[in-house]
Amino acid sequence: MILLNPVQHNRPYSDDESREIMLKTIEFFEKKGKQKLKEDDRNRVWYEDFLEFINENEIFYKLLTPEKYGEKGCRWDTWRNCEFNEILAFYGLHYWYTWQVSILGLGPIWMGNNEAQKKRAARLLKEGNVFAFGLSERNHGADVYSTEMSLTPLPDGTYRANGEKYYIGNGNVAEMVSTFGKMADSGEYVFFTANYSHKNYELVKNVVNSQSYVADFILHDYPVSEEEILSSGQDAWNSALNTVNVGKYNLGWASIGIATHAFYEALNHATNRILYGMKVTDFPHVKQMFVDAYTRLTAMKLFALRASDYMRAASPEDRRYLLYNPTVKMKVTTQGEEVINLLWDVIAAKGFERDTYFEMAARDIRGLPKLEGTVHVNIALIVKFMANYFFNPQDYEPVGTQDRPQNDDFLFDQGPARGLGKIRFHDYSAAFNLYELSNLRIFKEQIALLKEFLAAATPDADQQKDTDFLLSLGEMFTLVVYGQLILENAKIYKVEEAMVDQIFDFMIRDFSKFALNLFSKSSTSDTQMEYLKKMIKKPAVDSDRFNYVWKDHVLALKDVYEMNP
Ligand SMILES: Cc1cc2nc3c(=O)[nH]c(=O)nc-3n(C[C@H](O)[C@H](O)[C@H](O)COP(=O)(O)OP(=O)(O)OC[C@H]3O[C@@H](n4cnc5c(N)ncnc54)[C@H](O)[C@@H]3O)c2cc1C
Repeated sequence: MILLNPVQHNRPYSDDESREIMLKTIEFFEKKGKQKLKEDDRNRVWYEDFLEFINENEIFYKLLTPEKYGEKGCRWDTWRNCEFNEILAFYGLHYWYTWQVSILGLGPIWMGNNEAQKKRAARLLKEGNVFAFGLSERNHGADVYSTEMSLTPLPDGTYRANGEKYYIGNGNVAEMVSTFGKMADSGEYVFFTANYSHKNYELVKNVVNSQSYVADFILHDYPVSEEEILSSGQDAWNSALNTVNVGKYNLGWASIGIATHAFYEALNHATNRILYGMKVTDFPHVKQMFVDAYTRLTAMKLFALRASDYMRAASPEDRRYLLYNPTVKMKVTTQGEEVINLLWDVIAAKGFERDTYFEMAARDIRGLPKLEGTVHVNIALIVKFMANYFFNPQDYEPVGTQDRPQNDDFLFDQGPARGLGKIRFHDYSAAFNLYELSNLRIFKEQIALLKEFLAAATPDADQQKDTDFLLSLGEMFTLVVYGQLILENAKIYKVEEAMVDQIFDFMIRDFSKFALNLFSKSSTSDTQMEYLKKMIKKPAVDSDRFNYVWKDHVLALKDVYEMNP
């Protein structure tokens, strides 16, 4: 089974320490228990106990310090960080969030060339500190170009920082808040560190109603020395974008963790409920919803795992991760919402109860598509790759599972965040030919029609400027990329053919839905509408396959996991 089951932890690691970190973390939460977990959530209790546990076991130190700056056992290893992400969100998004914003805060530090600050960060990690990433501002959202935080040079060679940052996680406790701003004189971008405890750092408030602290803070003539500058100019800009490249990938894992826990809880509830003298899980629509939820969840995990392989294998010559990464960000996280929607329709009232994990899941799953770049921002990025993906493939050495215990150096040396339209991909059709399955055949017809649509009914100049049109088209393209990596990994993980075929059942339905959506746009031409109509297809009906997945995959998970009360 590919889903996380904390009581039967079986993920392979080539070193004992990594496995121990995961097991200890699971143990921490299971010991804490569901009641206390929920009580802390309801009362918005700052997670001191968790931070203490992290400190005692030096967990962030080991997982987030690059090999070069830490002691033995320290490395930034995406293989193990994926699972750590998943485990934290499995128990609660707040716990994941403090880890996630630490990752973001550390990005500009490890990416910069300020060695003294790197050593300081490693020391602070060893001492159990968390970090913060001060990029966002209240009035500018995704428009980072408009950053107002400014750094004024003084005659003595130091600077004064002035400005406000908004939505900054851990901004209440971080000794190193990596803060993005502009030089007051030259307008050049700059990253510097600020300390929450300095008297010129005004912590205004927590802008959210939650256990996490998402700070609004103001720097008033905050003194910054040259030693606290992490990077400037183009390097600072690249650090901002490249940090988000690393960080936003984790949001997919948070979605997977949340949806997995919610899945177990929903299944345990529904399989034990009798209505009108029959089991709730005997209703055909309930079976359909569970099979859809399970196949979507499995697909999310297969894709995110495969994307990690490409991230770890990346180099200046292989930047394919720049497509797979935003796909994890927008697709896996929106699929997480879909899984929760399906499960919630089954468990209905139960999903509101204060003592369920589900009640938190239903709230928290919504955040992941919206943070660190919205779905729209990421699709706008994804469509830049479409032409090369379909029409200009290139040979690459095959990329296997990247599970070796190695520091991911390239992630902190990604180079300029530009030239996306030049990145080329391996031929996607190879993955779609890995299996001979009825739903895959239909999905391939949909892809062929999409490719023909792009070549023969190419969106005109106005449509290419119309983000509403492009976003719908981008959803269809994203499904092809999603399908490709799912298939590559299904082979690697030896997923049963029935499961793969059932995954493509929802993929065909989703593709049809997006085709209908694009068909309905005001600017779609008659020729385009003809193609789009042809893309609307029905999955192959196979009740044996469906029942097999339902019984052997979904029902088999009944009572397999329940959190310790
Ligand atoms: C709980 C929480 C925690 C956060 N933590 C941090 C943190 O620690 N550090 C930090 O720096 N930030 C943090 N953020 C900020 C977060 O990353 C931003 O909220 C997010 O990037 C989206 O910005 P926005 O919500 O202001 O939307 P806006 O940027 O205002 O977007 C408005 C609309 O315009 C669309 N849009 C904008 N630009 C484009 C584009 N180029 N193409 C297509 N559509 C576009 C958007 O999709 C959206 O629909 C946090 C936010 C929250 C709520």
